[in-house]
Amino acid sequence: HFNRKELRRGSMADHVLVFPFPLQGHVNSMLKLAELLSLAGLHVTFLNTNYNLRLLASHSVAYARLARSPRFRFLSIPDGFEDERRRSASRLLDLLESLQTRSVGPYKDLLLDLQHRDEDGYRGWPALTCVIADGIMTFAADVAREVGVPAMFFRTVSACSIWSYLCIPELLRTGELPFPEDADLDEPIRNVPGMEGFLRRRDLSIFCRNAKDSSDPRLRLVCTATADTVRARALILNTFESLEPCALEHIRSRCPVTYCIGPLHALLRTYYRLTSRSDEEEVRSTASASLWQEDRSCMSWLDAQPGRSVVYVSFGSLTVMSPEDFTEFWLGLVNSGQRFLWVVRRDLVDGKELGEGAAAAGATPAQLEKATRERGCLVEWVPQEEVLAHPAVGCFLTHSGWNSTLESLVAGVPMLCWPFFADQQINSRFVGEVWRVGLDMKDMHGRDIVEKMVREMMEGNKAEELRTSAANMAEMARDSVSSTGGSSFTEFEKLIQDIRSLRP
Ligand code: UDP
Repeated sequence: HFNRKELRRGSMADHVLVFPFPLQGHVNSMLKLAELLSLAGLHVTFLNTNYNLRLLASHSVAYARLARSPRFRFLSIPDGFEDERRRSASRLLDLLESLQTRSVGPYKDLLLDLQHRDEDGYRGWPALTCVIADGIMTFAADVAREVGVPAMFFRTVSACSIWSYLCIPELLRTGELPFPEDADLDEPIRNVPGMEGFLRRRDLSIFCRNAKDSSDPRLRLVCTATADTVRARALILNTFESLEPCALEHIRSRCPVTYCIGPLHALLRTYYRLTSRSDEEEVRSTASASLWQEDRSCMSWLDAQPGRSVVYVSFGSLTVMSPEDFTEFWLGLVNSGQRFLWVVRRDLVDGKELGEGAAAAGATPAQLEKATRERGCLVEWVPQEEVLAHPAVGCFLTHSGWNSTLESLVAGVPMLCWPFFADQQINSRFVGEVWRVGLDMKDMHGRDIVEKMVREMMEGNKAEELRTSAANMAEMARDSVSSTGGSSFTEFEKLIQDIRSLRP
């Protein structure tokens, strides 16, 4: 219904700045959100840190496509955190602190610039309508408000984890946190409403488990960031109504304007179909917002394997495991007799390159190669959405990161969960106990456990049961993004209306 001439001039258009925390999982989901906003007709500025923009520009297919779009642009600011070890989980707080001090000035200057119509540099871009900031960076919304731009938050984690974070003050008040010395981690948690009966101490974030008192910096970060997040004018989540109804009801009691528009990669495919961009090549490339070079050789390896015969193994972009755990996984996988495709990032094993990690674990790279040659394939980084959609994949041994979990749910692939940190402990509990689409290997170690659980996932009645529930779950996920009344599709449309109503 827009006047085309006016739209071209920019006066009728809206302009959103999307600003993710500069880590792979955050960039992945927020780039998908940004692309959706652009397909819905908005102008989008996707703000990166300089470091990540360089990586995206070299490795991401999505970058290559979006950089050509007239309504989409990538801008970047420094984060003062330029070294290669930046991505590890242990440096998360340092990265956030660096952003808060080093990026805040350039970010504010940028917002001040974008508040005006950008006649010359960007072919008549409209003034900024609003900022959608990663909820972990509450400063991004504070600065936006300071310069008079409305701000919404996007959280990249599950609703169940957000609800558990919101309950942390109550857990502290009632003495459920911190845990006593030598706590029994199977003890039930009582003060997370809606999760009584199945949530145990070990299912709360690892930050809770490690906190000695309420001043623990990581605990404080999740608490205060989450409390600030729900004070925003709107909260956007990458989940869907029928997946986490109870957690969402509780979150909405604190933050009534909560849009659930996930799984974002599935919603993006719906939009591709609607905008007639359904050719195979384009749909394939929705996936890649990779900051690493994808090794596509694994796709032809998968093509040569029988249906549902492969265990896909990936621990995401941040997990760092000890050489001992690495060996135990490797031996468990080999001993299970199953085929496996394993993402072994250069920095997966504690401080070591792959060769050194294998050596520290009592093997040489040559031995590792020999043992996996028959049934395995090791790569540094894969196009994960495509891998999960491949018919040869039978299960996903995962660290339960939220993007990986959603990608597996949509593909209907059952999960074997070995959570590492943040929201992963609670995600894996939901996978095993609530959604029943996998098994939770939390806190278990050793080659025998790995072998036993991998077999259980791949052979026999349990495996069959899990496949059936995973297939049902995939259908639910697809329904949620359907353009004929899917909840996420509908909420995304409401979000667009909300953004349009903010036009200055
Ligand atoms: N990923 C990928 N290739 C890989 C491993 C992971 O593209 O070889 C992507 C995966 O599809 C997901 C993201 O990296 O979108 C990881 O995000 P997640 O939330 O699962 O975990 P994190 O890395 O944040 O711990």
